[in-house]
Amino acid sequence: MKVLVVGGAGYIGSVTVEQLLEHDHEVIVLDNLCRGHKEAVSIKAKFVQGDMGNVDDLNAIFGAEKIDAVMHFGALSLVGQSVEQPALYFKNNVTNGITLLDTMLAHGVKKFVFSSTAAVYGEPHSSPITEDFPLVPTSPYGDSKLAFEKILKWYANAYGLMYAALRYFNVAGATETAGEEHDPETHLIPIVLQVARGERSHVTIFGDDYPTADGTGIRDYIHVKDLADAHLRAVEALKHPGQSSVYNLGSGTGFSVNQIIEAALKVTGKPIPTKIGPRRAGDPSTLVASSQKIQEELGWKPQFGSLDTIIGDAWNWHQKNPKGYHREQAHV
Ligand code: UDP
Repeated sequence: MKVLVVGGAGYIGSVTVEQLLEHDHEVIVLDNLCRGHKEAVSIKAKFVQGDMGNVDDLNAIFGAEKIDAVMHFGALSLVGQSVEQPALYFKNNVTNGITLLDTMLAHGVKKFVFSSTAAVYGEPHSSPITEDFPLVPTSPYGDSKLAFEKILKWYANAYGLMYAALRYFNVAGATETAGEEHDPETHLIPIVLQVARGERSHVTIFGDDYPTADGTGIRDYIHVKDLADAHLRAVEALKHPGQSSVYNLGSGTGFSVNQIIEAALKVTGKPIPTKIGPRRAGDPSTLVASSQKIQEELGWKPQFGSLDTIIGDAWNWHQKNPKGYHREQAHV
């Protein structure tokens, strides 16, 4: 297949690009580099710097290449920022996404894989979360993703779009060549590893009074390689006009903030000082996925689900790339 990967210079996009190439797919990456890193994109992929909200950029690609499918990783994803700047999130994640959909359909491209999120569930009533749980996002970010899922449903109904929406839980880990680098960094595992590397003085634990065994928040961490594998399975399963599927993606096990810090201590052998802070606004106490649906329907199974592997791979990447992607050598 020839796959257009929008946002392929970002963390999850770049790892998926690697796997697509390993499976002999042809890859074109479109990224505006507002968050991504060009060095994260394999040199075996064709890279286009441009914007999914710009019809000219899209027409140039769809006009020149016979694209079979689109994977869309090109959204903004900071919950706190979305609360402060909802216009930015709805413009980028919804309006620009519609431009992408309309342009691909105008060129006869009908296969689409969408990066959705556990944030569509808001504060769930119980765990593990299945795909039929109530959809009540608590942030503009979650609402923008849910809005786009709804658009996909109606586009499939009217225009024969075939899509899979993948609701990610907490993604972490790295490959040999691609890892997680955000600025600002807000995610727990990279922050914990920055402390282990001496780049931060301590980790602030956002609340130790949650109704969990040790009082800290519980999340379901999935290895980015397993997540990328789900994208390949999802795109390969798109065969019938109007076909649609929605899948949760997690490892099915919850780990508390304290458990993550303990595991990182073990993996890195470095001190990780902590301080207890207040809860972060909008953080649910527990988010654990049931990924049974994608396991049954697409035969997906987490291969790298152990916490030691997830943290160990992230640690190796950060050790090898202490300055992240701000480095001389290109990704191969
Ligand atoms: N967390 C924390 N300190 C930090 C960052 C995160 O205690 O500096 C907690 C957060 O409250 C949540 C978990 O770690 O319970 C995972 O947060 P992250 O931001 O990595 O992902 P999220 O679940 O918000 O998507």
